[in-house]
Amino acid sequence: MKWLLGLICLSLAMAGGTARAAERVNVVASFSILADMVRNVGGNSVDVVALVGPDGDAHVYAPTPADVRKVAAARLLLVNGFGFEGWMPRLLQASGSKAPIAVATKGITPLKLGGEADPHAWQSVANAKIYVGNIRDGLIAVAPDQADAFKAGAEAYLAKLDALDREVRDAVAKLPEDRRKVISTHGAFGYFAAAYGIQFIAPIGVSTDSEPSARDIADIISQIKAAKIPAVFLENISDPRLIERIAAETGAKVGGTLYSDSLTGEKGDAPTYIDMVRHNIKALTGALAE
Ligand code: ZN
Repeated sequence: MKWLLGLICLSLAMAGGTARAAERVNVVASFSILADMVRNVGGNSVDVVALVGPDGDAHVYAPTPADVRKVAAARLLLVNGFGFEGWMPRLLQASGSKAPIAVATKGITPLKLGGEADPHAWQSVANAKIYVGNIRDGLIAVAPDQADAFKAGAEAYLAKLDALDREVRDAVAKLPEDRRKVISTHGAFGYFAAAYGIQFIAPIGVSTDSEPSARDIADIISQIKAAKIPAVFLENISDPRLIERIAAETGAKVGGTLYSDSLTGEKGDAPTYIDMVRHNIKALTGALAE
């Protein structure tokens, strides 16, 4: 009888295994911030991979053959939109994927910088809430049998984002108004600036695919001196040398690192979107308080 019991156990384990595998929705997100949001909405019902992982720069990403396989296997693809993932159309074509594509920024009016849409909409928590709604709807569309789980996941996460938004507003409100201005490397904080009233000046535009000219840097340096900008910030995806040089030439202090386009690994300062916003606001208020 032992063999029979063993056989039953084995088939139960196999049935359990296949049932679980069938339940989880395989989602491929273009970059780490979206992947974290999907994990929050989908919980145990999703398997998520990010193409551009922690500390990666999605502006200038070059997809790999492994990415082609990941996209080919996805049941749902999630992108930011607003021209952020310029490399995605070729990757999609190479993968032959027919999976639906959810666009996280759907319903958001883009800010424009020099005629170009600014893709960094997630830097306003109110926009992140729109992302979450689009992610929830995208998941429900591919796995309607799990709609209740996705709705519950989204609702719980949205409540956390509401609290986060209040946290940011309370922290900014404590700063003296004339000190609410900083320098960051690339123009990633336009939506944050518009939502929370901290002015950002960046030597590089909304994409990281260009280098600032000597003239751009000279302009920034005179702007910092004229406006008495208290602090400059590094970014995890950008070369620190430019900001270090600007700090040395102006006497502005380096306020630390801001996370703009990418999360960190588990052990870093910003392993989740909520951690990222909290870290940034702490770095900003630490540098700008009197
Ligand atoms: Zn960026």
